[in-house]
Amino acid sequence: MKNTETTTKKRQSKTKAKSTAADGLRELFVDQLKDILWAERALVKALPKMAKNSTSPNLITAIDEHVTVTEGQVERLQKVFEIIGETARGKKCEAMEGLIKEGEGILQDTEQGPVRDAGIIAASQKIEHYEIASYGTLVAFAQTLGEEEVADLLMETLTEEKQADVTLTESAYNTINFDAANDEILG
Ligand code: FE
Ligand code: ZN
Ligand code: FE
Ligand code: FE
Repeated sequence: MKNTETTTKKRQSKTKAKSTAADGLRELFVDQLKDILWAERALVKALPKMAKNSTSPNLITAIDEHVTVTEGQVERLQKVFEIIGETARGKKCEAMEGLIKEGEGILQDTEQGPVRDAGIIAASQKIEHYEIASYGTLVAFAQTLGEEEVADLLMETLTEEKQADVTLTESAYNTINFDAANDEILG
């Protein structure tokens, strides 16, 4: 036990903050808002490509609808920035860039059809889960900072992201993964 503690301590080194680092929860909150704004804008551009490469009508509808929802989320974020008196400027989200790249990688690795559809669902769900984690945190930060109106707005988006995740799960279980498995069997 004591041994483990010492080992852990040895391995950890503290990261020195940059001179521009956020001090205080409010700055961290604004920073995270900029991150998710960048992410949502990137998704508005990336999602149509996913829909275009899908085969299942269910999946195409689900993604198309989420594009419209995502556009609304960008507008909602702009409103949030307005309420807190900050400029709605995005800041590159490395995670979302990576998740989108993974999705594009799946397109390159699969032929159009049920297997690609299954891959698109997998990539999309990773994206939705990242968003759910992000908005969950943002709601908590907003509440802690006493920004009730902002917390309510962010909660609306959180609910939409959870719904998108459920819809994707349903489209996967309904037909797509089954078809993908059949495809494998039948070659
Ligand atoms: Fe979103
Ligand atoms: Zn991010
Ligand atoms: Fe991130
Ligand atoms: Fe989403």
